[in-house]
Amino acid sequence: MQINTDLARIQPLSLGAAHQVRIDVLRTDLIHPVISGNKWYKLRFYLDDAIAKGYTEIASFGGAYSNHIVATACACQQFNLKSFGFIRGDQTEQLSTTLQSAQSYGMQIQFVNRTDYKNKASIMDQYPKTGRYWIPEGGYGLIGAKGAATILEKVHLQDYSHIVAAIGSGTMVAGIINASLAHQKILGISSQKNNASLEAEVILLVNTENQDRFLYVPDYHFGGFAKHPSELIEFMNQFWLKENIPTDIVYTGKVFYAVTDLLEKEYFKSGDRVLVIHSGGLQGNLSLPENSLLF
Ligand SMILES: *Cc1c(COP(=O)(O)O)cnc(C)c1O
Repeated sequence: MQINTDLARIQPLSLGAAHQVRIDVLRTDLIHPVISGNKWYKLRFYLDDAIAKGYTEIASFGGAYSNHIVATACACQQFNLKSFGFIRGDQTEQLSTTLQSAQSYGMQIQFVNRTDYKNKASIMDQYPKTGRYWIPEGGYGLIGAKGAATILEKVHLQDYSHIVAAIGSGTMVAGIINASLAHQKILGISSQKNNASLEAEVILLVNTENQDRFLYVPDYHFGGFAKHPSELIEFMNQFWLKENIPTDIVYTGKVFYAVTDLLEKEYFKSGDRVLVIHSGGLQGNLSLPENSLLF
């Protein structure tokens, strides 16, 4: 499998200099154009597990714009596994670009209406138990978190006082908290609005002794999941001009906005050393009108 995680490199930001705060970005977006960023790390041990157990078919769940779905499809093609995507909602006349790519990697797409989608177990029960390996939506679960922990594998962790990452399902941030050191604070920036159970879902995947390193930050969703008011787009363009880093409207744009705002509000103190995870996901920007972004 040719995913070269060595391509994830550290890039310092100029952002914190005025506050005497060092801010580095871990560019996991650079490891692969499709199996981008955290998606590969979350999938890797599920795929290892499936192959070790002799499965030849992988199935998973997601929305019509799910990066997890297209990453799963692409990874399965590379591993010579058949892939099946169960997609939330009714079939649209034209497939989203995300689903079209998933299909181009050989994934069989099946739509499931929103009511039935809530009961994943009953969908799984419709298929024989043998032969098909199910990966939870978003890779959520202990195996996904274990993979996400390897995001930090090549980072010199002692260098940092804080780590900042986006929260979708919470799998990535859980892995990062598990891999973190006792003196560190891990800030999870939620991409969702009013999801009262999200913090607990993260905690569910975190070792007990690491749980109090976690700070759940719900204030930077910009109106809700994938919502992208012009203020966010403008920020992403300015960030590109200043730091030369592309971001996405669903996760990383909001993460870097949060970091900038927390600096201005002096949450980060002189001498702090902050690692921000660029978790990839740039495909999300394809849904924007042309020329919205400078990158
Ligand atoms: C999927 C995704 C996330 C969310 O990761 P979770 O493990 O589901 O919390 C964050 N950032 C990017 C860029 C993503 O594509």
